[in-house]
Amino acid sequence: MSDEEAPLDLVADFPAIPSGWAYLDTAATAQKPRAVIDAITRGYDDTYATVHRGVYQRSADMTLAYEAARATVARFIGGSPEEIVFVRGATEAINLVAQCWAGTQLRAGDRILLSQLEHHSNIVPWQMVAQRVGAAIDVVPLTDDHRIDLDAMAAMIRPEHKLVALSHVSNVLGSVLDVRRAADIAHGAGAKILIDGCQAVPRVPVDVAALGCDFYVFSGHKLYGPTGIGALWARTALLEAMPPYQGGGSMIDRVSFERTTYAPPPTRFEAGTPHIVGALGLAAAIDYVTAIGLPRIHAHEAALVRDARAALARFNSVRLFGPEDSAGIVSFALEGVHPHDIGTIFDEHRVAIRAGHHCAQPLMATLGVDATARASFGVYNGADDIAALVAGMERVVRIFG
Ligand code: PMP
Repeated sequence: MSDEEAPLDLVADFPAIPSGWAYLDTAATAQKPRAVIDAITRGYDDTYATVHRGVYQRSADMTLAYEAARATVARFIGGSPEEIVFVRGATEAINLVAQCWAGTQLRAGDRILLSQLEHHSNIVPWQMVAQRVGAAIDVVPLTDDHRIDLDAMAAMIRPEHKLVALSHVSNVLGSVLDVRRAADIAHGAGAKILIDGCQAVPRVPVDVAALGCDFYVFSGHKLYGPTGIGALWARTALLEAMPPYQGGGSMIDRVSFERTTYAPPPTRFEAGTPHIVGALGLAAAIDYVTAIGLPRIHAHEAALVRDARAALARFNSVRLFGPEDSAGIVSFALEGVHPHDIGTIFDEHRVAIRAGHHCAQPLMATLGVDATARASFGVYNGADDIAALVAGMERVVRIFG
């Protein structure tokens, strides 16, 4: 086994994971490595000041650090700094595109194409704008092994579809989208494509140029960074054509009561004092995963998923969702046992999983369940966590017979 293939052993980097606790809820939010916690502490400590406005040295230094964080995000996903808008997270990024791009470009009779596995964050903002402009929404079905069915997408897309919005990696199933093919299909019909990369950036290498998408969004907190910070990447021409999202300080060029002009992107979309230290924490998180290497993280989590699926499949009446090669996430159900009961019993066993609809109620309806139990992995998980998952399942089976 080469170093590249050896399992990661990084739990010691994560002070919030006590020994003996199996943290299997990374798809909800990732724990933070010491390097990120230190970057946040440093940010509020002897380097703290505002950005963009100060004439004193500390503020000028902080502005350089904040803009360097933007450049780090850009490099991480293959974009350029002017194409990166700092936002609160994926939810805000999607709402921004829905309001500022779709809200100004779509007309009555236009259509938006989503898929059956989308997170509510990639459904509700489109419903809100569709209602406002009189557009309609269509939904791409899933394949039998729970991937977005791109053959079906190719068959159903029409010139009325102006926007396609799909998850790169499903937060419930872990299925990985062939983004390049989806982008080619969207562009072939004249539509733009937004990719929700929330679960992808911590798990697979992302290069927006190679993927060929038009908008890419993600949250920092699922990438081992802080909450309250995330990124929207969009092609410059699209950002330039978009009106501001919110008005306030920083996003302007000149203000008078007669007429206000706006700053160019990305500043135009960052009204108010930004989450300065959040951006520094996000950059530290990106440095952390980049040093490990996304291909290595992906291989590590894919091996954990394989082991978890094989271990869970040995229990009678377990139903596993998602494809065999899903990225870092396994959803399952046990016949006759509510996923919340599984989660509660696991917790007594010091195993933290998620149980519920995972903000994907339409997907639950497609799968024919109210909820699933979900184990999701990060760089800190290993064989002990799979053993804890199995011990938790044995206890559930003992209790429920
Ligand atoms: N999309 C996906 C696929 C997600 O998993 C999540 C978070 N669960 C979101 C969007 C929303 O992210 P946030 O709550 O950080 O804005």
